[in-house]
Amino acid sequence: MAPRLAIVYHDEMLEHRPPGLEPELRDYHARKLRLLLGDLVATAPWKHPERPERLSSLIEHVRGRDDGRIAWIEPERADERMLLRAHTAGHLKKLEALKGRRRLLSVDTTAVSPGSVNAAFRAAGAAVGAVDAVCSGRAESAFALVRPPGHHAFAAGFRGFCLVNNVAVAARHAMAVHGIERVLIVDWDIHHGDGTESIFASDPGVLMFDVHRAAPYYPGTGALESVGQGRGRGTTLNVPLPAGAGDQAVLAAFDDILLPAARRFRPGLILVSAGFDGTREHLACRFSPAVYAHLTQRLKMLADELCQQRLALVLEGGYHIEPMQAALDACLKVLLDPGEELPPVMALRTGLPAVRNARNHLAATTALLKD
Ligand SMILES: [Zn+2]
Repeated sequence: MAPRLAIVYHDEMLEHRPPGLEPELRDYHARKLRLLLGDLVATAPWKHPERPERLSSLIEHVRGRDDGRIAWIEPERADERMLLRAHTAGHLKKLEALKGRRRLLSVDTTAVSPGSVNAAFRAAGAAVGAVDAVCSGRAESAFALVRPPGHHAFAAGFRGFCLVNNVAVAARHAMAVHGIERVLIVDWDIHHGDGTESIFASDPGVLMFDVHRAAPYYPGTGALESVGQGRGRGTTLNVPLPAGAGDQAVLAAFDDILLPAARRFRPGLILVSAGFDGTREHLACRFSPAVYAHLTQRLKMLADELCQQRLALVLEGGYHIEPMQAALDACLKVLLDPGEELPPVMALRTGLPAVRNARNHLAATTALLKD
């Protein structure tokens, strides 16, 4: 019998060290980040929030708790053919030229150190590895623990700490190599997955469901009215939440919007942009770590029901170590012991009216939710 859960990880992803640079550049980054993220960077000594410890601490934590039931997979780097399914040749050329260099790439402090490009290729390879594991039956579900994150990377652009769109590369790989006709991407990172949405906006084979804090919060996209375009119209579903939204809101977004839409869409694979920056420490919304168990349980149920268990999660954001560990624990417990009782969530109802409004709007405008 296949193991319940595979973790896909490689040490090369720790070699991305933005910016770790000269003091004057560090101050420049710090100023920019303070403008964007406020108190999140008010730590001394200042470090780029997308730092290796985010991932190394999660890996240590999971290794320490593994009772032998987790299958550990070391991924290859994504190759050119894989990357070109989601990115332009020009974007890859730019990435190749950045190998071995230190550079600031965008005003929102996306930056590279000498090991960053190979780390990014390895992260995309890990997302592909997670898809391979669940599509080949090597594991029931898989979690790719990666950095740099991917969901702000566009077909031809860097943004929001992202160089390569890991989930987009993985979705296209599933379609091209495993013959999966329809992929559901669930993005529960608290920032809108603008890069992923843009890559699949016209693709009717990918249903993108994204719950996030509403604009003007970073990156400022993900409006309810963005439902895809052309043949992809109606296969982008955004649920923007107000500041301070809690567990009940994100659960309602899943129950009232995602679940019915997914059942109509009938995906052959569920991919998750799993950021853990919705917890209160991140100052955007107020999810409890426990709610991630409930979100995972719903996706596991959908995967069992609709796509022969094929569920692959890929880490995105999350910058406070302890709540990230707790949230990841919550997910892994559900994937390892799906029948167990779930931890209690918070009763906070902030954000519920926004979800009701989103549900009504989408029911009136998109085929997947029409009553
Ligand atoms: Zn995020």
